[in-house]
Amino acid sequence: EKTDFMAYIHHIIDRFEMNAYEGIELRRELPEGQYYVWMDKDKMTQVLDNIISNAIKYSPEGGIIRIGIEKQRHQLVVSIQDEGIGISYDKVDKIFDRFYRADKARTRKLGGTGLGLAIAKELVEAHHGKIWAKSKKGKGTTVFFTLPLMNQKRRGS
Ligand code: ATP
Ligand code: MG
Repeated sequence: EKTDFMAYIHHIIDRFEMNAYEGIELRRELPEGQYYVWMDKDKMTQVLDNIISNAIKYSPEGGIIRIGIEKQRHQLVVSIQDEGIGISYDKVDKIFDRFYRADKARTRKLGGTGLGLAIAKELVEAHHGKIWAKSKKGKGTTVFFTLPLMNQKRRGS
């Protein structure tokens, strides 16, 4: 359905903030105003729940998670940046594969199946978006995804 993505993401973040996560701060870097996307809310909630849960799961106590949105031409770019354990550059593209879990020793005790991001990728692509990540081991990870905006009037074309 047609959804104001800013109102929607505030609601998602509010819901995460109702739980305490060892002093982890969710910081909103969101534009004002209304940005409409056509989406399946339940599926988009699955995408964000997984990415934000990962950011929390792999963050240190007191870490900051920045949730940002930028408008780029006819799409929104959503970013979830953490200050967590990071992923080495040769593994970062594999995290979207089914059952892939980077650094088995450290991630084993944190649980999970390794399916979360593979599902997120399928769902983002079903919304005609793209998903990718940038990371630096020991510094943190940023997961990005795009979503096409609705009702974008084209000028000069
Ligand atoms: P599930 O989501 O199914 O509970 P999971 O979190 O292990 O399990 P994914 O969400 O698919 O699986 O993530 C795959 C792997 O990518 C993780 O096991 C972890 O190694 C790595 N990863 C994902 N997000 C982060 C992050 N924010 N920081 C560091 N590593 C991450
Ligand atoms: Mg996960």
